[in-house]
Amino acid sequence: MGPVFREVSTMLRPLKILFATSEVRPLIKTGGLADVSSSLPAALRDLGLDCRLLVPGYPAVLAQCEDLTPISDLPVTLLGPARLLTGFMPGTRVPLYVLDAPRAFQRPGGPYQDTRGQDHADNAERFALLSQVAAQLCGPQNPINWQPDCLHCHDWQTGLAPAYLHFAGRPVPSLTTIHNLAFQGVYSPSLLTTLGLPSESFAIDGLEYYGNLSFLKAGLYYSDWITTVSPRYALEIQAEPLGMGMQGLLQQRRHQLTGILNGIDTADWNPSSDLHLTHNFTYRAMAGKRRCKAALQTELGLTPSAEAPLFGVVSRLTHQKGLDWILQIAQGILTRGGQIAILGTGEPILESGFKQLAHQHPQQVSAFIGYDEGLSHRIEAGADLFLMPSRFEPCGLNQMYSQRYGTLPIVRETGGLADSVTDGVDGFSFMGDTAHALWLTVERALAAYHDRPLWRRLQQTAMRKDSGWEKSAREYAALYAQLAARAHS
Ligand code: ADP
Repeated sequence: MGPVFREVSTMLRPLKILFATSEVRPLIKTGGLADVSSSLPAALRDLGLDCRLLVPGYPAVLAQCEDLTPISDLPVTLLGPARLLTGFMPGTRVPLYVLDAPRAFQRPGGPYQDTRGQDHADNAERFALLSQVAAQLCGPQNPINWQPDCLHCHDWQTGLAPAYLHFAGRPVPSLTTIHNLAFQGVYSPSLLTTLGLPSESFAIDGLEYYGNLSFLKAGLYYSDWITTVSPRYALEIQAEPLGMGMQGLLQQRRHQLTGILNGIDTADWNPSSDLHLTHNFTYRAMAGKRRCKAALQTELGLTPSAEAPLFGVVSRLTHQKGLDWILQIAQGILTRGGQIAILGTGEPILESGFKQLAHQHPQQVSAFIGYDEGLSHRIEAGADLFLMPSRFEPCGLNQMYSQRYGTLPIVRETGGLADSVTDGVDGFSFMGDTAHALWLTVERALAAYHDRPLWRRLQQTAMRKDSGWEKSAREYAALYAQLAARAHS
C-alpha cells in the first residue's frame, strides 16, 4: 500500500467523490464508459469512499430508477428548467443524482444521436448543462447537503466542468479521465457566451482547439489531473497519431497524466454463474465451455463441431477496431476449417461486409448486426478465440472478458490491449498494422489451438488472471486523496 493510499484509509471521514458521467450501465450504454461508470464507483465504495454519480435524466434512466425523489430546482442558464432527483443505482447502494432537464434529455434516440443516427443538434448545450450542474454541485451554490472533495469527469461530455470550476475559483480539485481521445466535443466558438464561458477561455492556453472550442480540451487543460484507461494509452497519446491534435497539451501535462487500467465487472462476467449461458464452467471444470460452444453453434446456425476453431467478435463496427483486416483474412480462417461469430453494429460498410460474408458461408460465419448483451456473453463463452485487432484501443474490455471465459484473445499491441494481453501467455498479440500481420498471429494461435495441452495451459492462465476492479480502484482512491490533500495544503 503506497503512502498516499494510507492517507485515504486513515482520514477521519471518507473522501467524497462526485462522478459525473453521460452513461452508466445498466441504465444507458453506448460503450466502455458505461461499464466503468457502474463498476468503479461501486469498487470505490467497497474501499470506504463516498462516491456518488451524476447522470442525465434520459428516458431510460427515469424509467429504470424507481423511487427517485426531487431534492432541488437548479439555477441553470441552458435548456432549463432543471431539477435534481436523488435515488440509488438499481440493485445497489451507490447514490445517484439525476439531472432532470426534459428539454435537454427527454427525447427519443440515444444519448448523443437521434433515431436516424445523427448527432443531436444541441449536444453542446446539453452536455454543457451536465458540466455546469456537476460544477455547481461542487461550489458555494451547491443546492444539496453534500459537498464533494473531488470531481471526477469523463470524456468530452463532462469536459467543461473543470473549466466552470476554474472560473468559479476552483472550490474543489477535478480529475478528467480520457476513455477515448477520438471524441473531442468540438463546436463553434460562437457558442462561448451561450455556454457561459468567459472570452479569455478561448485561447491556446484554454479550450481553443484549431479555431473551434473543444469540450475535451477544456477538461484536459483545466482539470487538476488527467487519467487514461491504460498506462500504454497514456504514453501513446503524447505523440502523433494517437494524440489526435492534443499531443502538445498532453506532453505539457505529462506530470499530471497517469494511466490506470480498467477492471471488469467480475460478478457480471463470471463463467461459473453467468445467467446468459446455457452451461456454466470454471478453469478446473471446462465441460460447460464445450457445451456453450455447441449451443452457440446451434443458436447461430453454424455447423456443429467441437474441433472447428470458433472465432468471436463483439464490437462497435468502426474503423478504429481494425475489423476490415478481419474481412481481409476471413477466407484464410474458413479454409483452415474455422468459424466466425460476429456481433456488432456501426459503419454501413463493415455491417454489409460481414453480412455478405455470412451470406456466402452460412455454416461457417454468423453476423448478428445489432446490440445484444446476452449474445455477447454467449459468444465470449462459446468461442475458442476472440479477435480484437484494434488500430487503437484506450483500454478495451472484451479482451479481458475473453480471458476470463477461456477464449484466448488475438489483439493488436496497442493501448489497454498491450497492457492486458501477454503474447503466448494469456492470448496472442501483434505489432504491425496490416491484415497480413493479423493473419500471421492467427496462424500462430491456430497452431497453439491444435496443441491441446498447450491450449489448456494458456486457457488456465488467462482464466485465473485477476482483472477485477480492486487494484485500479485503489489507484484512483490514492489519486483523489493526493488531489484533495493538495487542495487543502
Ligand atoms: P468501446 O468502449 O470502444 O466500444 P470496449 O471494449 O471498451 O469498447 O467496450 C465495449 C463494451 O460494449 C463491451 O462491454 C462490449 O461487450 C459491449 N458491446 C459492444 N458492442 C456490442 C454489441 N453489439 N452487443 C452487445 N454488447 C456490445
